[in-house]
Amino acid sequence: MTLQTLRTPQALADAGLIDPTDLAALQRVAAQYAVAITPAMAELIDATDPADPIARQFVPTEAELHATPEESADPIGDDAHSPVEGVVHRYADRVLLKANHACAVYCRFCFRREMVGPDGLRPLTPRQLDAAFAYIAGHSEIWEVIVTGGDPFILSPRRIADLMARLSRIDHVKVVRFHTRVPAVDPARITEALVAALKTSDKAVYVALHADHPRELTPAARAACARLVDAGIPMLGQSVLLRGVNDDPTTLEALMRAFVETRIKPYYLHHADLAPGTAAFRTTIPEGQALMKAIRGRVSGLCQPTYVLDIPGGHGKVPVGPAYLDGDEVQDPAGVRHAYPPRSSP
Ligand SMILES: *Cc1c(COP(=O)(O)O)cnc(C)c1O
Ligand code: SF4
Repeated sequence: MTLQTLRTPQALADAGLIDPTDLAALQRVAAQYAVAITPAMAELIDATDPADPIARQFVPTEAELHATPEESADPIGDDAHSPVEGVVHRYADRVLLKANHACAVYCRFCFRREMVGPDGLRPLTPRQLDAAFAYIAGHSEIWEVIVTGGDPFILSPRRIADLMARLSRIDHVKVVRFHTRVPAVDPARITEALVAALKTSDKAVYVALHADHPRELTPAARAACARLVDAGIPMLGQSVLLRGVNDDPTTLEALMRAFVETRIKPYYLHHADLAPGTAAFRTTIPEGQALMKAIRGRVSGLCQPTYVLDIPGGHGKVPVGPAYLDGDEVQDPAGVRHAYPPRSSP
């Protein structure tokens, strides 16, 4: 059992997670994109399985060095909508607040891989943080603040309490949403102190958990989520559709069921973004639509996420189907077409 987060190719080789002959190549990858695998995730990896879906998400590969022409360092166009450092304001009623740029684990398919990690952007300075809060306070249309990063749950409870206290002084902000992988990848960080920090203000607090494979929802992860939900914090599930991780109906169904069993409502299934060196992870949109069709009808409605694409260039997220309605015909979950409204019989 590993006790420390693995942060270098050498540490991965020592833990038996990579072949030592790949060390030199993976050192080039690690020089470009941060590496971290927490003990909880390292323990889940079956090192004898070359296609292990947990390893695939976190263990670097040489393929990451090869970007395709359509890939981009800013695949969803955050920069185009950043009025002040750390704030992305693309939709009128909500902003992203990127307070820090470090994560507990580094996902090989991350859409912000050029910005996160120790060599990525620096955390906001106190002055930049003041400017970010001033921007939010000055824009009364901002109803929701989405705290993301990086991963905000690696901040200390003291810093999260400070953030919540500052947001609680802004009347027009009613909802605060955190996006995190921590409850699954490092469940011990979900302490009573962290939960108390989240409850510092009278805002409605939501936590969106990013998990991509059902095995990530271990008993310890489920207990960490229960600490949040029992404290009155609703949770949402966010997943990325990833080739070789969850792009088959059985795995996708098991992931969505694991969320709902943990009292987490599946929210979005993201089509994988065009981040550099991530082609091996991307499915096509028709493949994604076929997967969504496969779980519609067969699996509880509670388990159905919305399949979304973040349009490159900062144009926003939209659902990308599948569509069931086609003119005056509608397809049922089994794929049978019906006239709607029904044609009257002669
Ligand atoms: C994804 C995203 C949001 C949140 O969108 P929802 O549809 O409300 O989940 C907000 N701002 C930006 C810039 C985003 O990329
Ligand atoms: S936790 Fe989120 S921000 Fe961090 S590397 Fe993974 S996908 Fe990127």
